[in-house]
Amino acid sequence: MSIKDRLLQVQQTIPKHVTLVAVSKTMPNSAILEAYEAGQRHFGENKVQELTEKQAALPNDIKWHFIGHLQSNKVKFIAPFVDLIEGVDSLKLLKEINKQALKNNRIQRCLLQFFIADEETKFGLNREEATEIIEAITKESLKAVEICGVMGMATYTDNEDQIKSEFRQLKSIFDELKTDFFSDNAAFQIISMGMSGDYSLAIAEGSNQVRIGSTIFGVRVYNT
Ligand SMILES: *Cc1c(COP(=O)(O)O)cnc(C)c1O
Repeated sequence: MSIKDRLLQVQQTIPKHVTLVAVSKTMPNSAILEAYEAGQRHFGENKVQELTEKQAALPNDIKWHFIGHLQSNKVKFIAPFVDLIEGVDSLKLLKEINKQALKNNRIQRCLLQFFIADEETKFGLNREEATEIIEAITKESLKAVEICGVMGMATYTDNEDQIKSEFRQLKSIFDELKTDFFSDNAAFQIISMGMSGDYSLAIAEGSNQVRIGSTIFGVRVYNT
């Protein structure tokens, strides 16, 4: 099946209010263009160098999502153009994003990444750390960042009950933060959860943004 057909198939399983981010990491520009020509505009990448090269070569109206672990010293390379930084997991990183956004005369949209999985390898904040970061935005006057919601990854497991309960946890974190800090802020509205293997469960638990790679583009081959 072509990328276009797989993309259309995925789109048919996603309700209208859910944003589809096509995760194109490791995929060539030709694959991204095929999805682009089928109407896809949101793409996700997790490596800074790969993203900057693709951004320079591909159409300007693509909305690039940075979905990986972002090192502070690399923010400057993507700050001129990145639409949404999904993985804010420290105040240090957010301060650097603010600094680079100011330099580029932009307001940088970001998500707070939460640790919900039962795995040691996944990055993310807990509720207390997130509160500290949100309070620091006002205290330190970080005016060039806009927190648009939350992001998280469930454990890689066959246990659907566990996955559901992790997604439910992220949804309730979102609801609490909305009530406590963002009740009059319309920008705070994204719940980014769900990948190829678990996006239907995520949508059932309240996701409104899914990040789907292999179901659209096929399996990834890593050259290590
Ligand atoms: C790779 C990746 C995805 C997409 O994974 P698939 O299983 O290929 O859909 C989604 N989110 C993040 C953060 C990723 O790194």
